Amino acid sequence: MKTKPLVVITGASSGIGAAFARRFSAEGHPLLLLARRREPMEALALPDTLCRSADVTDREAVTAAIREAEARYGKTDLLINCAGIMLLGRPDTQAYDEWSRMIDVNVKGILTGTQAVLPDMVARRGGTVINISSVAGRKTYDSHGVYCGTKFAVHAITENFRHETAGSNVRFIVLAPGVVETPLVTHTTDQAIKDGYNAFKETMGGGMQPETIADCAWFAYAMPQSVCVREVVIAPTRQPE
Ligand code: NDP
Repeated sequence: MKTKPLVVITGASSGIGAAFARRFSAEGHPLLLLARRREPMEALALPDTLCRSADVTDREAVTAAIREAEARYGKTDLLINCAGIMLLGRPDTQAYDEWSRMIDVNVKGILTGTQAVLPDMVARRGGTVINISSVAGRKTYDSHGVYCGTKFAVHAITENFRHETAGSNVRFIVLAPGVVETPLVTHTTDQAIKDGYNAFKETMGGGMQPETIADCAWFAYAMPQSVCVREVVIAPTRQPE
């Protein structure tokens, strides 16, 4: 039986990224899982899986981990850039450092892995990159200024890269969820904003399960290479915004 190709997932130590890892492993793919915390990725206990601690803003570390995985499992056929942080805050009070970290992780963090795999995908005329954006990459929300900016950037970069590599048979897909049940908001430092976000979530009966987002990623990836699901926007039915 032919071995399935390598899938690289960033942000796999928690939430949506961990759900991607479980789903693509269940579909029989060898995996490289990347995040700063290695233990939660190893705790997933998935077969044919390499777990490496790397900050997605560290291009050398990300590239080295991808090369190590490719030496073991073959070329990367799918890169999922999922690592991200959401630090909500008001424009007049939020710390500059929080803005800076969101831009580094959410924007530069999708570029490190992309640069490590894309030249080879273009050369061999195949491969897929799925970038995780958000409905906050389509609409703006109060307290989300810089977070929305980073996710608008993910949309823009993905669409532009798709356009320029389409002729090489490479697929770029942007997957943009609404509210999902993960620890994402817990890293926000402003308690009142965090409370407001959780109250908003209650009004829609809670967020989606991470497995639902993994279903979407699998649906898009499992299409023939000749078909590119360019964008998926998915949110709880009762999320009006
Ligand atoms: P989680 O907080 O559960 O997961 C975030 C992941 O990103 C963790 O694995 C974390 O790992 C990783 N990460 C954060 N910073 C870095 C870094 N510098 N280097 C490497 N990895 C990093 O949140 P979600 O699962 O919800 O978020 C995943 C993605 O989904 C994000 O891009 C987010 O913006 C997006 N999203 C989430 C939504 C939601 O409602 N939850 C809605 C729309 C989009 P570690 O800390 O170990 O490094």
